[in-house]
Amino acid sequence: MASSISASSSIPQPSTPCLLILPTEMHNQIIRFLPLPDRWSLRQTNTHFATLIPAHTHSDLLFLERERAQTGFGPRDTLLTCIGCTKLLHMSRFSPKMYSKKKAHGGVQAGSRFCIECGKRPLPGTNRYQKGARWKEAGRSWVRCVKCGDVGEGSLNQAVQECLVCLEVTALNDAVRVRAARSFLARHRGSFSFMGYGSEYEDDVYWQGRDEVWDDYDDEGVNYSD
Ligand SMILES: [Zn+2]
Ligand SMILES: [Zn+2]
Repeated sequence: MASSISASSSIPQPSTPCLLILPTEMHNQIIRFLPLPDRWSLRQTNTHFATLIPAHTHSDLLFLERERAQTGFGPRDTLLTCIGCTKLLHMSRFSPKMYSKKKAHGGVQAGSRFCIECGKRPLPGTNRYQKGARWKEAGRSWVRCVKCGDVGEGSLNQAVQECLVCLEVTALNDAVRVRAARSFLARHRGSFSFMGYGSEYEDDVYWQGRDEVWDDYDDEGVNYSD
């Protein structure tokens, strides 16, 4: 026993992995007979094999995704297919909506799933977030703003399709309008009545007052175009 151990330990160890010592022709022969999952794994190892093995198709990757899920890879190792960049990527690169319900492994819409980076690419184009779309990234809400068209952080309210910057600008404009209205009312207090619904509503005096209101708004230089 002792002699067999000393014999095996005396065998010289190659300084590089054995597979890389083989000529490229041998690599090509080996690759031809590898099943799809092994071919994909070998392609990930280094640039030499990434060059020798052709890029996988989207349907190849969907097959691999299902295969890995069925062979017991845990959630931390879950790889998902992106139709935008045609890659298998870790699930952390996707918004949770992209791997739930019909877009989960084997779901009828798994083939339309795209990663966050692909989704954020500029419009127009396919396989990306359209205006008003919302998604989660690193626990935060993001939106492709319906107002400015940019990608930015979104409100916690799921119904809001504007970015936080546009919401802030809208709030500031509203505040300016309110200040202008308060200022006008303070200056014209008692000169006409806003309580004139009914008989006074038709009164010429009332409409005269209204005209003054709009003239004053114009004088405030407030931008109402948006
Ligand atoms: Zn992608
Ligand atoms: Zn915006």
